[in-house]
Amino acid sequence: MSVPVPYLDLKAQYHSLKGEIDAEIFSTLESSAFILGPKVAAFEKNFAEWVGAKHCVGLNSGTTANWLSLWALGIGPGDEVIVPAFTFFATASTVALCGATPIFADVDPKTYTLDPADAARKRTARTKAVVPVHLFGHPYDHDAVTAALPGVTIIEDAAQAHGTKYKGKNAGTLAPIACFSFYPGKNLGAYGEGGACTTSDDALAEKVKLLREHGMPRRYEHAMLGINGRLEGIQGAVLGAKLPSLKGWNHRRRQIAHTYHAAFRGLPGVQVPEEASWGESIYHCYVLQLNDRDGFVARASEKKIGTGVHYPKPLHLQPAFAHLNGKAGDHPVSESVAARCVSLPIYPEMTDAQIESVIECVTGWVRKQ
Ligand SMILES: *Cc1c(COP(=O)(O)O)cnc(C)c1O
Repeated sequence: MSVPVPYLDLKAQYHSLKGEIDAEIFSTLESSAFILGPKVAAFEKNFAEWVGAKHCVGLNSGTTANWLSLWALGIGPGDEVIVPAFTFFATASTVALCGATPIFADVDPKTYTLDPADAARKRTARTKAVVPVHLFGHPYDHDAVTAALPGVTIIEDAAQAHGTKYKGKNAGTLAPIACFSFYPGKNLGAYGEGGACTTSDDALAEKVKLLREHGMPRRYEHAMLGINGRLEGIQGAVLGAKLPSLKGWNHRRRQIAHTYHAAFRGLPGVQVPEEASWGESIYHCYVLQLNDRDGFVARASEKKIGTGVHYPKPLHLQPAFAHLNGKAGDHPVSESVAARCVSLPIYPEMTDAQIESVIECVTGWVRKQ
């Protein structure tokens, strides 16, 4: 008996913590601390501790985190920043927003993360930084990227990696600075927009704090340019209420991923996501590769199984980057994964019947091929 499985079910998670979340929201309303304030300060302290970084700076989105980390490092016109061709747009668009040029490199076919060898080939005299992504919750190979690009500053895009581990270390502590997103669908999600930078560098933390508040060390004194990039009080309150559950949620996602692996591994025409021996994924997405991906998505939708496609078009082929003259064939792995990838529902609140229905949908479809 197949049961409906939405791709995401944020309401189920809310109901599991409704008491705590409601109380935190209402106490924020009573305090009128709507922007930054004590709830955000408490969350910043707790999240920094959770990640194992010295500082966490709360921001109004993950995109802002990407943008301000580049800005704080002084990336600007004339600079090149290497980014994977297969990731969410913000990893690369924020490079361009700083006036620098994103240079695309291909990804590894097993982990979907930046291919260090291809990144090394893209280096020029102008290369200032690289933004590898812990994509879908799986870490990129930090030591290999460091070795491939000596002297190039690394900025971790940890937007999908709240709890991801690389050789036992947490994502968010590997590079000088890291960027997190608290978009509602992320493993740790706000009830609106949210993001943060983590760093153990005091000067970088101070710089990001200035940039998120109009370069303003004291009220109406502007030491430098900046933007309004602050995290809201209510989002800090919600994130604070959810943080104690994150470890358990990630654990449950891993269990579901292992159940999927066991059911799908070896099916003809299906490639399951591989976890590298040095990595521990938090499975923000569970991404299969299939031959007739669009056919499967249509079939799943008929069976009321929600799916996602992350991401259907690699960045070097996006119209926004047309001026960089990317063409089909430039990044063959990114292009092939973009054509074949499908994300299955994976969230801690899924019932066993729902997990079974997703498995049935995939295996049934493969049998019919
Ligand atoms: C979600 C995401 C971002 C941007 O975060 P927002 O909070 O949506 O602005 C950046 N990079 C990656 C890889 C993401 O998944």
